Amino acid sequence: MKLDFTDRTVLVTGGTRGIGRAIVDAFAGAGARVAFTYRSATAEAEALRADLEARGAEVLAFQSDAASTASAQEVVDAVLAAWGRLDVLVNNAGITRDGLMLRLTEEDWDAVINTNLKSVFNFARAAYRPMMKQRSGAIVNISSVVGVMGNPGQTNYAASKAGIIGFSKSLAKELGRRGVTVNVVAPGYVATDMTAELSEQAREAMLGAVPLGRPARPEDVAHAVLFLASPAAAYITGHVLHVDGGLAM
Ligand code: NAD
Repeated sequence: MKLDFTDRTVLVTGGTRGIGRAIVDAFAGAGARVAFTYRSATAEAEALRADLEARGAEVLAFQSDAASTASAQEVVDAVLAAWGRLDVLVNNAGITRDGLMLRLTEEDWDAVINTNLKSVFNFARAAYRPMMKQRSGAIVNISSVVGVMGNPGQTNYAASKAGIIGFSKSLAKELGRRGVTVNVVAPGYVATDMTAELSEQAREAMLGAVPLGRPARPEDVAHAVLFLASPAAAYITGHVLHVDGGLAM
């Protein structure tokens, strides 16, 4: 089935690189109007917008710290003002600040929880009312296998990603009768700038545990997001879809 998002409006947080960029690309390629946020990479955001527009897509780019509740509201309001509706919200923005518990600082904890988890609250809260009124919408939140399995050195990251799963299941139960689905994609090891920071040893150890024997491409994650946001997944909500080559089974 070809997924067609013509006339659909999509908002993706953290869209200028890695998984977020692949998601933005895939939605634009499927005909959607795509808005994306970025924290500070203005040049990359402008280049992405120009590239997508050259391919005929309608695009909006917003500089916005996903951890800011007020900024999330402003972004959603601007999308609604421009396009009149919000069909799909993808909460992708995320960071790591790894370290064993003993060395983890309060700042490391707050930065990761606010960027990865509070951001999901921020944007879902802003999208809640418009999607409820439309009586349709799809929210897809990007968690991680680490939120399911845990990982030494990532207590803050794992807590944020496990939090996303509990949040999403609760919201799915709140919004189900309004025709809004809320699902989670939990990627395993994806080849992006985020994992480029890992040591060769850590990367090899992780790959050794992946039955499919390769890291995910950002596009592998994007395909799962598009599916969950499409009418083909209309009867799926509160689900955690692992895109991890079999890592967490
Ligand atoms: P990345 O570092 O390449 O990209 C992250 C994006 O989030 C960037 O565009 C960055 O600018 C944006 N971002 C970070 N903080 C932000 C903020 N405060 N406000 C707005 N945007 C912000 O990482 P990625 O690998 O593409 O990761 C994307 C998502 O996928 C993250 O939520 C990450 O936790 C998750 N994930 C990644 C992997 C992996 O192996 N790479 C695995 C599982 C889950």
